[in-house]
Amino acid sequence: MKHYDVIINGGGMVGATLGCLLAKQGKKVAVIEAFAAKPFSADDAYDLRVSAISRASQNALMDAGAWDAIKAMRTCPYEAMQVWDAAGDGHVRFEAAELGEPDLGHIIENRIIQLGVADAFTSLETARLYQPNKLKDLSVETDKVIVTLDNEEQISAKLLVGADGANSQVRTLAGIDIQRDDYGQSGLVTVVKTEKPHEYTAWQRFQSTGPVAFLPLADGSSSIVWTLPSDLADYYCAIKKNDFKKALAEALDHKLGKVTKVGDRGAFPLRGSQAKPYVMERIALVGDAAHTIHPLAGQGVNLGLKDAVELATQLAQHGRDPGSLKTLRRYERARRGDNVLTMRTMEAFRLLFGHTAAPVKTARNLGMNLFNRIPVVKNEVIRKAMGL
Ligand SMILES: Cc1cc2nc3c(=O)[nH]c(=O)nc-3n(C[C@H](O)[C@H](O)[C@H](O)COP(=O)(O)OP(=O)(O)OC[C@H]3O[C@@H](n4cnc5c(N)ncnc54)[C@H](O)[C@@H]3O)c2cc1C
Repeated sequence: MKHYDVIINGGGMVGATLGCLLAKQGKKVAVIEAFAAKPFSADDAYDLRVSAISRASQNALMDAGAWDAIKAMRTCPYEAMQVWDAAGDGHVRFEAAELGEPDLGHIIENRIIQLGVADAFTSLETARLYQPNKLKDLSVETDKVIVTLDNEEQISAKLLVGADGANSQVRTLAGIDIQRDDYGQSGLVTVVKTEKPHEYTAWQRFQSTGPVAFLPLADGSSSIVWTLPSDLADYYCAIKKNDFKKALAEALDHKLGKVTKVGDRGAFPLRGSQAKPYVMERIALVGDAAHTIHPLAGQGVNLGLKDAVELATQLAQHGRDPGSLKTLRRYERARRGDNVLTMRTMEAFRLLFGHTAAPVKTARNLGMNLFNRIPVVKNEVIRKAMGL
């Protein structure tokens, strides 16, 4: 049986990044990933799933040794973000130039991040990628975890990390509980061309049914995340393309003019969740396996990458036995507060903008405009979101 310091189940954006950070410390690391991402070609149409990657996440991907390869494939910096209320004149605009920064972050397809980190991982001497493989079973012993793969091969490690997404198998098999809040909403995603240029700006308009975001892509098109009640999202996925184009342009109040072209559409159910706990002896959860949040501020993977950095830091400092509960609890203590606070903040925004009562709408719009006029506070908020 092959033995590792750490086995990571899930070689997505978070799991593979953690794998790189740990293997760079000289630890023997195995990553198990169920699917091989399709190799990149510059002619590929844009994927439906993209992420707004913060500066802190960019730094994590640099430390993982993946950023240059990701940049060389396809990324789009965004220089401004404009958020406004459909039910009034309230708006907030964030500008990178006001912060003395070149950009506020990058819009990147999830597959490209995953390809970049997987390449960086496999180039490291102490790293081994089991792909395409699935974890079938696990057994926690006093000094190790034994993992059985779907091909019946068994491998063991001092620590098993679940980085296997919102339906984490590690979490289930380890018997870790999860608190879930189903928002009854879905995120409709697609890629569109618009009449007017996106100006390297992330545009987001809040309607009472949920926000619609147009995120800039390098070829001038925009990636859409449109939050809607789930039945409405299914309806908009099914209607004719021309009807959808009109509805989407209307949802953004024609800020970018007409929607001239639309790609495939997909809808993802949205849930807030927190695993309780994130760790137990010899097991740790990171990324969506540990927590999910509403995507309205595009923070999900950014929080997951912060988990990866924190766990790697704790294991570098205190990780003689990487599976010891004492060390793993340090990681949980450092991360749970930030993850819960961000989730609750997103929920508060969702509820605030869902209100249709006139006094709430008036106060909300006044509040947004006031916030927009106080650069010290506004810039502090965006700096925090960027992880600066
Ligand atoms: C509509 C929408 C828009 C979003 N936009 C943003 C955004 O702009 N910015 C942002 O930061 N976040 C965003 N998010 C959230 C973000 O997508 C997630 O937080 C992120 O994908 C989590 O990454 P992860 O690596 O933890 O999990 P995942 O991306 O789910 O990766 C898990 C990996 O584990 C593998 N796996 C699963 N089970 C097994 C198994 N049994 N054995 C082996 N491998 C397995 C999977 O194949 C996958 O590769 C958005 C989410 C939604 C729904």
